[in-house]
Amino acid sequence: MKAFAKKIWLDGKLLPWQKANVHVLTHALHYGSAVFEGIRFYSTNKGPAIFRLDDHINRLFYSASVLDMKITFTKSEIKKAIINTVKVNNLKEGYIRPLVFYGAKSLGLYPKNLPVQVTIIAIPFPKLFAKSTIKVKTSSFIRLHPHSTIASAKISGHYVNSILASMEAKKAGYDEALMYDFKGNIAEGSGENFFLVKNNVIKTASLEDILPGITRQSLIKVAIELGYEVDEAELDKHDIATCDEAFFSGTAAEITPIAKIDDVIINKAKIGDITQQLQEKFYDIVHGNDNKYKDWLTYVK
Ligand code: PMP
Repeated sequence: MKAFAKKIWLDGKLLPWQKANVHVLTHALHYGSAVFEGIRFYSTNKGPAIFRLDDHINRLFYSASVLDMKITFTKSEIKKAIINTVKVNNLKEGYIRPLVFYGAKSLGLYPKNLPVQVTIIAIPFPKLFAKSTIKVKTSSFIRLHPHSTIASAKISGHYVNSILASMEAKKAGYDEALMYDFKGNIAEGSGENFFLVKNNVIKTASLEDILPGITRQSLIKVAIELGYEVDEAELDKHDIATCDEAFFSGTAAEITPIAKIDDVIINKAKIGDITQQLQEKFYDIVHGNDNKYKDWLTYVK
């Protein structure tokens, strides 16, 4: 395949892009038994800075623990490896994909004594959506039932649900899917958390059935510090029909304003004032222009 960067870190070694391969018996390939992170790094006037690296590493290790994976590297070794992977690829801005997965040994479902492998990929990564506002379709696929899995873990197998939802949305001419939970409340996008604004109150789904997004949590903190009320609430179709603004949040999506959900046009299909304020603040923070949140950045030196 085409190389997007020079080197990939695999099980402790930096390998040339084309040499970072696995065996076809890799358990994760058959059953989705992998956990991962998506992390962005941004250019700043002190060089590239990785956004909330420790929080992403903590979530990675938490997700691995859910699948009983024994990672043979410590958090601080993974942190150093991530920083080094960005550095050796000489990237100024981009996306980092750490992936922990059950490797190749047998075909059995139960991952007994399987090797646990770790890879770190760093690549350039532009905006997730080329447009400044997007069209969203509520999905006929619901988010996984909280008793079917552990939704707070970022497990690769969960993403088949996301793939189905996003294929459905794209085939219908939309940019992204929005999924309900089993109770009929709005949960999240295929790879983003969902927010709406109504009467100056910012609302988002509570954490029961969704991935606890690091961007979501960052925005909630920033919004409260800007003086907004943030409500983690049960949201449904009626809230979509009556909201003033809506947006997605996520590492890849950053803050993506939503112009339309199904047939509902939101804020005359323009970015809302509060969404814009949060988006500007977010870019200030990630580019190292807001000292208040400097602890959220890890500089690649
Ligand atoms: N929900 C899902 C299903 C996701 O895949 C992501 C992306 N990791 C998010 C929400 C947003 O999470 P974060 O802000 O940590 O990237």
